[in-house]
Amino acid sequence: MAARDRHRLEITGAVQGVGFRPFVFRLATELNLAGWARNALAGLVVEIEGPPEDCAAFLERVEKNPPPFAIVRHIAHSPRPVEGGSGFRIHHSRLESAAGTEAANTEILPDLATCPDCLREIFDPANRRHLYPFTNCTQCGPRFSIVLALPYDRERTTMRGFPLCAACRDEYESPGDRRFHAQPNACPDCGPRLEFTDPSGHRLATRGEALERAAQAIESGQIVAVKGVGGFHLIADARSAEVVETLRARKHRPAKPLALMMPHLAAARAHCEISPAEEDLLTSARAPIVLLRRLSGGELPTVLAPGNPTFGVMLPYSPLHHLLLRRLGFPVVATSGNVSDEPICIDNDKALDRLRGIADAFLLHDRPIARPVDDSVVRVAAGRELLLRHSRGYAPLSLGGESAPVLAVGGDQKTALAVSGPFGVRCGPHLGDLETEAARLAFEAQCRDFPALCGAPPRAIACDAHPGYRGARWAAEAGPPAVHVQHHHAHIAACLAEHDIYEEVLGVAWDGTGHGPDGTIWGGEFLLADRRDFARFARLRPFPLPGGELSIRQPRYAALGLLHAAGIPVAGTPLVSAFTKEELAVAATQLERGLNTPLTSSAGRLFDAVAALLGLRWRNAFEAQAAMDLEFAADSGDDAGVFPVALESGSLDWEPAIRVLLDELGNETPVAALAARWHETMSRAILLVARAAKKPLVALSGGCFQNVRLLESAVAALRAEGFTPLWPRRLPPNDGGLALGQAVVAAARLREKTD
Ligand code: ZN
Ligand code: ZN
Ligand code: FE
Repeated sequence: MAARDRHRLEITGAVQGVGFRPFVFRLATELNLAGWARNALAGLVVEIEGPPEDCAAFLERVEKNPPPFAIVRHIAHSPRPVEGGSGFRIHHSRLESAAGTEAANTEILPDLATCPDCLREIFDPANRRHLYPFTNCTQCGPRFSIVLALPYDRERTTMRGFPLCAACRDEYESPGDRRFHAQPNACPDCGPRLEFTDPSGHRLATRGEALERAAQAIESGQIVAVKGVGGFHLIADARSAEVVETLRARKHRPAKPLALMMPHLAAARAHCEISPAEEDLLTSARAPIVLLRRLSGGELPTVLAPGNPTFGVMLPYSPLHHLLLRRLGFPVVATSGNVSDEPICIDNDKALDRLRGIADAFLLHDRPIARPVDDSVVRVAAGRELLLRHSRGYAPLSLGGESAPVLAVGGDQKTALAVSGPFGVRCGPHLGDLETEAARLAFEAQCRDFPALCGAPPRAIACDAHPGYRGARWAAEAGPPAVHVQHHHAHIAACLAEHDIYEEVLGVAWDGTGHGPDGTIWGGEFLLADRRDFARFARLRPFPLPGGELSIRQPRYAALGLLHAAGIPVAGTPLVSAFTKEELAVAATQLERGLNTPLTSSAGRLFDAVAALLGLRWRNAFEAQAAMDLEFAADSGDDAGVFPVALESGSLDWEPAIRVLLDELGNETPVAALAARWHETMSRAILLVARAAKKPLVALSGGCFQNVRLLESAVAALRAEGFTPLWPRRLPPNDGGLALGQAVVAAARLREKTD
């Protein structure tokens, strides 16, 4: 007998439910190798036996060309005694017996958009899944939104109530099949079904007819609540200003841009500019909402995104969306199915209750959603993807390394959780703001669910240092000790964790508001920071915010505070027309006496104030609206100049810049040019501090770096002088990334305690 080798491979990472075993089976069969494969808690174990050169070919292909959605973290490889025999088998997993004794450290995959093979089947009249809205395979379909516990197996998903029919079971059990162990596998005979109801939940139609009725309702200008992958959408005809206005009125959402779902890429192209990088994102398996520049003269009504040069666009990402959009053939609004600040609805009865006043009809299905997974939002900045909302298709994000068991609860806005443990850190999806009772209940449910899912009961709860934050208050009562992490330190630590950096960096944390240890509102911070600690190196010069919260909602007040700090009279600035005489008098008294005028070093407020001084916006209808106006205004201004700024004893003084800006405004320099110059000035300010701090790595984070103009300009300025700028890639720079930073800082401190 010719020489034979036997090898054992232990493959760890996200290798279950992604078609890894069919891949291994086909490869071994093709190379005529004997052996077997089985799932284990940590991943996949494979043994192969055959001629050495064939074994080598097998190993090489597993390493170099694993299935597209698998994340291979490590392949442990050991020789085994030759056993003889032939044929390759898939053994049933021994998970059940082992599950009680070991922590389940298998990866959890995100939900993936419908793959081309499934799509072809759905539109193939001869296929048994023709027009079936819940078609999926190992390369696509729901994952995170249906998993109840690990290891990931059908009986631990919300598909457990749907016993497989004979045909589906056959696919599920055939190692060579695309649906081999596809946990949500389903067909019209055995899987979930659609139902169309009126707002009181009366069933009007089922299956294909339900879809047709929903399409007719949308065509006729109605708003339909559609249960999707990770929650409900409110769907309506995007071409009709009247329909969109009705939706805005019912949802109490007067101005914030609404997301669009386009029937296909060509339709998106008809309304938006799409770069190759943006096309890749739109058509990727993650299928996020991508912010795209809208084409001038497009026919879609401006009420979709008033005053905004971009549209948030996504393509259909589940069979249900493909079927609905292909039937409609026109762009629809597909906005989160929730009541203003509440979490997205995931449950049929809840949706009927909460969305009754908004939706004219409901398209429901009976596959339960395990947890809310909203649409993700991204844009392209500095040549790569920048996340604005981390959720479907992306969450949970797994970062490697070993860590102390911590639950981090993030901030009170754009809340998201992170859990660390022996598996590293996992970052959960966007949960929204914690302002409403419903949001807080959902938050608490996720605080129980997510660590349990990860198999990591927390030894500490990491939260923001702001004592008034709801998350911090919850942490105080949760049981395990609370670890308070300063807001801006968390922003920087998150960035360091993403980039796997352990050394000290200059962290530029610019955002709207964060609690500072000195009792003032921070937000324009330059920190010398590592994963454990930080020291403030410099900050933007503080200024008062008359009326506190009022200045956040109304940038005209932030501008008043700015002028007051600089001793610049309001008269003679455009701001004078933003107020009545009485309003000005009240604010002046407040500022002089220091009544309810908290000091802030916030960059977000500084951008707001400049937007108001330039007359761009006096009142915000939603968070950061004025700062966005300033960014958009800069788009049409090609002015490379900068205003003067000064760095003195750790304070970056914006006053010289404001004085020149107001002079130029008086000289009728176009607002666009001044807005552009303002952005250049702020990136120059970052460079000024970087030179003084002399750290090779500069981490940029905080909500202000969602401003692409600022981010790109700062990155270019830093690189030009030999610094290495880092900024968040896989989590948002805004408060959606806080939990990761909190988890990392808390774990570093816990480790220190136990060492
Ligand atoms: Zn598929
Ligand atoms: Zn079936
Ligand atoms: Fe923040």
